[in-house]
Amino acid sequence: MAVLDVVQYGAPILRKECKPVTDYSVLPKIIEDMFDTMYEEEGVGLAANQIGIDMNLMIIDVSYTDEVDEAHIFVNGQILDSFGESEVEEGCLSIPEIRLPIKRPESIRFKYQLPDGSDQIEEFGGLLARAIQHEIDHLKGIFIIDRVSPLMALQYKKKLKEIEMSSNKSRKVRNTKESFVL
Ligand SMILES: [Zn+2]
Repeated sequence: MAVLDVVQYGAPILRKECKPVTDYSVLPKIIEDMFDTMYEEEGVGLAANQIGIDMNLMIIDVSYTDEVDEAHIFVNGQILDSFGESEVEEGCLSIPEIRLPIKRPESIRFKYQLPDGSDQIEEFGGLLARAIQHEIDHLKGIFIIDRVSPLMALQYKKKLKEIEMSSNKSRKVRNTKESFVL
């Protein structure tokens, strides 16, 4: 097992579109490290580039809520369609201490692969759909700060600069039912 440092805002790997997974044999070790890191940091989701790996790969576990759910691994995920809208406060392991109200579609139709490469298409709603969309954003180089108005983003300019300049140290964050961190 290995708990890795979560890559912080300002790192180039968080600003690019990640490559598709083609070699599935390397996944088990990476996925294990991702779960170790996500649970240690108390996040509910993690994208591979948040531990410095350029791959379309994410893990999610929203079971801390009342929603009965299990841990998920999504390889080469792609949102096919989306429905409705909701607004929830989100935090991000790569932007510590900032939480923002983010509007997103309420449910999605999602195409992905399991770690063995088999294809799946499924509909997801609620927190799980939100977490998937947050991680898909990461895998495309998009942050929550890009999803708020320029005026709101401006308020966090100084804080973001601080995170960019500071060493890549991760800090503990707490999830609540009203606000969660991924
Ligand atoms: Zn995040």
